[in-house]
Amino acid sequence: MKQWELHCSRCSAKLPFRYQDMKCTCGGTLLVNYDIELVAQTFTKSSLALRYPSMWRYHELLPIHDPSHIVSLGEGWTPLLRLPDWENKLSLKRLWIKREEQNPTGSFKSRGFSVAVSLLKQAGATKAAVPSNGNAASALAAYAGRAGIQAFVFIPMDCPSLIVDECPMYGATTILVDGFIHDAAAIIESGRTEQGWVNVGTLKEPGRVEGKKTMGFELAEQLDWTFPDVIIYPTGGGSGIIGMWKAFKELKALGFIHCDMPRFVCVQEEGCQPIVDGLNTSLGGSPSSVCNTASPPVGDKIIPNPTGMRVPNPPDLELLLSIVEQSGGTALAVSKEQIAQATHSLGSEGISSSPEGAATWAAMLALSSKGWLRPTDSVVLFNTSHAMKYAKLGTSAAIPIIRTYDDFMLYRNI
Ligand SMILES: [Zn+2]
Repeated sequence: MKQWELHCSRCSAKLPFRYQDMKCTCGGTLLVNYDIELVAQTFTKSSLALRYPSMWRYHELLPIHDPSHIVSLGEGWTPLLRLPDWENKLSLKRLWIKREEQNPTGSFKSRGFSVAVSLLKQAGATKAAVPSNGNAASALAAYAGRAGIQAFVFIPMDCPSLIVDECPMYGATTILVDGFIHDAAAIIESGRTEQGWVNVGTLKEPGRVEGKKTMGFELAEQLDWTFPDVIIYPTGGGSGIIGMWKAFKELKALGFIHCDMPRFVCVQEEGCQPIVDGLNTSLGGSPSSVCNTASPPVGDKIIPNPTGMRVPNPPDLELLLSIVEQSGGTALAVSKEQIAQATHSLGSEGISSSPEGAATWAAMLALSSKGWLRPTDSVVLFNTSHAMKYAKLGTSAAIPIIRTYDDFMLYRNI
């Protein structure tokens, strides 16, 4: 085989590499397969130890031929922070949080778009479009700006305004859509040929899964080439789960690690939980709630103030469910109230967490109280984005405004 090729996750068909249209004729998703023997010649634990702290330290397992095509803003190699007090409180062997908010665009989306936009540059593409609940849009905008590629981002109109405002700052054509992310995706598909856009939506091209894969490599390397027992991850389209699962399989194929795969936990938000419902159905239960997959009526937001987890139709639910089930993992939905409480808990630890990151904390508490998490478990949470990206303009009503020290004393005495 060549250095890399495509491989269908459902029917195992093999195809030459291409940088768009990742749907196999059988309906499965095409993923990148590498020549592991070739990779093993230079990708060794000792060589990695000497490399620059960036996700591009894993370049042999990323599908870019020429380093001059790499579009980088300094992504990856984010801190893995241990929370020893909470290990004691919750009776866990280890608890860490992977601080993905420290990526250059303030979210984990930097990783996928660094690879996706590098592939566009490698292919000579000039225009790219993405449907997004926010962070993917700002990441495409930033990386496309860096590469001199025109970005078109389509965002549901109730998404966080600061993230929306970031996109034109990077030079992207930014459009708000009165609908869900799949309505935004349908607009891109309708205009793709006429406008000359490459659709860089979830699982539409190979770069985003490959970029997210580096979270798995990093985690294993930061844990001295072991896997944690449990990964709790906020899940929308699912490219992060697919990417990390792929990373761990590649590390096993290289002989780096022999232990069991981590149990993957997909966290969603109550009201839009297709993975939770899909898992319940496949385990013989009935959906715990109905995810509304229809477009909201004009002016009426059915699930307002969405997070990145509001993806009613994940592009390959079958693959996601098979990963979660094979790993012995689970999926659960948490409420807005649980997320708000978790934001404060993480804030008390000095961590600025997005609602999605806070959702993993809420899920951890729920799984701990149910006894699903065991005292022998080492657990990793993902804080996928920064709280500030979700801030509302204007000062919160709860924060006082003063002019003098006397005002302060007055405030203190109220
Ligand atoms: Zn197939």
